[in-house]
Amino acid sequence: NEEFILSTRPSDQNEVKSAWKLQACSMPTITNDNEFIIKTLFVSVDPYLSSGLKKSALGGAVNPIGSVQISGLVGRVIESKNASVPVDTIVTGRMEWKRYILANGTEPRFRIIQKPTEHNTIYDKIGFSTAIGVLGMPSQTAYYGILSVADTQSADVIVISGAAGAVGTIAGQIAKKIRGAQKVIGIAGDAKKCDYIVKELGFDAAINYKEYNTKEKMIEKLQELAPEGITQYFDNTGGFVTDAVFDIIKRHGKIIICGQISTYNNSEDDPSKVNIYPNYLAKTIYRGLSILGFVCGDFIHRNEEEFYKDMPTWLDEGKIKFHETFVDGFENLPQAYEMLFTGGNIGKIVVRI
Ligand code: NDP
Repeated sequence: NEEFILSTRPSDQNEVKSAWKLQACSMPTITNDNEFIIKTLFVSVDPYLSSGLKKSALGGAVNPIGSVQISGLVGRVIESKNASVPVDTIVTGRMEWKRYILANGTEPRFRIIQKPTEHNTIYDKIGFSTAIGVLGMPSQTAYYGILSVADTQSADVIVISGAAGAVGTIAGQIAKKIRGAQKVIGIAGDAKKCDYIVKELGFDAAINYKEYNTKEKMIEKLQELAPEGITQYFDNTGGFVTDAVFDIIKRHGKIIICGQISTYNNSEDDPSKVNIYPNYLAKTIYRGLSILGFVCGDFIHRNEEEFYKDMPTWLDEGKIKFHETFVDGFENLPQAYEMLFTGGNIGKIVVRI
């Protein structure tokens, strides 16, 4: 068996890949009646993991050096003494980065996604990996973010940063195809991504922020694409794109803070590296702006059934499309995590074991 433990605290983006160490560990054995052993199939790497690696602006508990990393994953039960979770059940939950895991069903976010006797489920059609993507946490974030927090309506002109990623691709489609937003503009890091979200996903327009790479250029492009004015901003990144939208969003606009990935690898002790736009708060006053932070976990606990009713239906009808970027090999988990910050993914990045 093998596992990844946290071995250093990365001080910047160049160090994130070496944050973990791969080491041998013992094969799990069942000692209690409710236990089972999972063979890991797919592991999720997510931007929020950064908050466990070192003290960051996101806050939250920092993982001890030497601890085994945890994230959402999908696995197959290969041995079981738990009658509700027999061999060949496919399960998901937040669990340790190990090739083989001992579990008992009380792990955070544990869910059975397919029993061995079940056939023709949505997962047979679109793959078990979607349990950590379009049928999992990132997609739930987009779902609750647009439907409950932004509450996007048909009159809205919404800008979405991080638009070609796991959350952004789904958020944009829900705003456009489910809520019928007047205009959805995505911001992403290269021409291929911009093309994809417009031509494949139905965004109205896209801006490559590496081409329009200053606040001034971004403002000019946004005004050209949305002369009627922006009413909502779904922010996944922070940075100069956020500064630009903040300056021109319409009176009574809503700014939904879903993520600030451009700051996650900054050191909390080095303010020069942290993007702080000094007049954010003063600028909300006369313009009556709302800034709404949220975490999807709050919504998942309240009404997860709604998501699991709607999303499979939308996928089945072909209304919502999704993309996965696979990285092969357990040993490549750190490299996959690094890709989140270098923009190597379209849609959900999944490590396939
Ligand atoms: P993505 O699939 O969007 O991957 C991250 C993407 O961010 C990259 O592909 C890259 O795309 C972009 N990016 C990386 N660095 C920068 C930068 N410095 N400036 C601008 N863009 C950058 O990840 P997720 O969909 O999983 O997460 C997206 C955001 O949503 C994150 O901020 C995350 O923390 C947040 N989130 C929030 C949740 C909540 O409950 N509030 C839950 C889940 C996620 P590009 O090529 O375009 O640069």
